[in-house]
Amino acid sequence: MKLICIGRNYAKHIEELENERPEHPVVFLKPDSSILLKKHPFVIPPFSNDIHHEVEILVKITKIGKHINEKFAHTYYDEIGLGIDFTARDLQSKLKKKGLPWEKAKGFDGAAVIGDFWLAKDLFKTVDDISFRLEKNGTTVQEASTRQMLWKIDALISYVSQYFTLKIGDIIFTGTPAGVARVEEGDKLKGYIGDNELFSINVK
Ligand code: ZN
Repeated sequence: MKLICIGRNYAKHIEELENERPEHPVVFLKPDSSILLKKHPFVIPPFSNDIHHEVEILVKITKIGKHINEKFAHTYYDEIGLGIDFTARDLQSKLKKKGLPWEKAKGFDGAAVIGDFWLAKDLFKTVDDISFRLEKNGTTVQEASTRQMLWKIDALISYVSQYFTLKIGDIIFTGTPAGVARVEEGDKLKGYIGDNELFSINVK
């Protein structure tokens, strides 16, 4: 399975990193080895002094497809999840400056948190207005709704399927809202969709 990640999908996050607003979705992949094992802490890797949390809504693909029409994209997923796209921001900045790929900064072991459970999409009136947030040590540090996405879930599925065949079990990380920041040893990160706590991670 593959993890397909979207960058720069929330206007305020683009501003905070002083990035340009993209013409098309920014797409990158994480390997399956980057998935943080359940019940394990996130260990800060030795090659970075600036690991950022990026809380993101996840979509799990349930049907194989390519060149998916946006109109039918909703038939390719049944569940919504929450995760973290951990990013070695110092390394990513260096790579970006040189025009090199980001993988080392985004795809290292443990860099992909997938929540403990998934929520049926039918629980929501619309997937285009799902509220989610990240708490760090009891304080909300990132909070948004999928309403604020530049490209909504169905548009993302249609877009990425023009390039990659989507397979059963693939997961799309749909981009992070503003509020990304450095994590430190001892931090506790909790992710919520509405009132549902989907993960609780200790940083080591
Ligand atoms: Zn991200």
